[in-house]
Amino acid sequence: MNALLSVEELDVHHGLLHAVRSVSLAVAEGERLALVGANGAGKTTLLRSVAGAKQATHGNVRLDGEVITALPAHRRVRLGIALVPEGRKLFPDLTVEENLLVATRHRRAGPWTVDGVLDVFPMLRKLRSRRASTLSGGEQQATAIGRALMTNPRLLLLDEVSLGLAPLAVDAVYECLATLLAEGATVVLVEQDLTRALQVADRVVCLLEGRVVLDAPAADVSREQVTEAYFGLP
Ligand code: ATP
Repeated sequence: MNALLSVEELDVHHGLLHAVRSVSLAVAEGERLALVGANGAGKTTLLRSVAGAKQATHGNVRLDGEVITALPAHRRVRLGIALVPEGRKLFPDLTVEENLLVATRHRRAGPWTVDGVLDVFPMLRKLRSRRASTLSGGEQQATAIGRALMTNPRLLLLDEVSLGLAPLAVDAVYECLATLLAEGATVVLVEQDLTRALQVADRVVCLLEGRVVLDAPAADVSREQVTEAYFGLP
């Protein structure tokens, strides 16, 4: 397989805590990978190391075969890796439009514009000049995804986009994501909701205590098999 992203025997520590343990995985162009696992399994740490927000202690991250393990986050953004972080991390006092434009500072060349983002997330159209702090959770999440799109990513890393959102807001965010996915976006999605993860993804990787315990095409695994891997059942 010609992988867009390869992670090779990656170890990541938080001090003495070994959060990601010899993780290897690959994501092909156009593939949607769901990364699942219980709280503390290492999903966020893994995404952050791919994005360059957290340094790995061993192993490699490659984009299109090039080793990028030591590159800082802003250089990886220029190469096309965009992270939508857990908790959204918007600038609360900036408007929606300003939050989107912030991302253009270190971006890769490409087609995304504020209007393009508003086409994908029509819920933001009327909110363009509103401060981020005044938005609902779903609107903030849409803005955070839009901000990542503004960097013209080749690989979109989404960390728990439904966390803390009302069910209707989750539906709305996923409806918009479906537009992106239909256009062939390459995505790694951390999602607690297994049903949703299996619906969206081509492939599912489950982490347990920092290790990969399942890596399979979504069509080949049942919800029960993923649940067993999730809880480490034999
Ligand atoms: P969650 O669903 O709770 O976000 P996760 O699978 O994303 O879980 P991580 O957030 O990557 O897991 O955490 C993996 C381990 O690393 C956990 O034991 C967590 O407590 C620890 N950890 C995460 N971030 C830090 C940090 N900044 N400093 C110290 N330990 C951390």
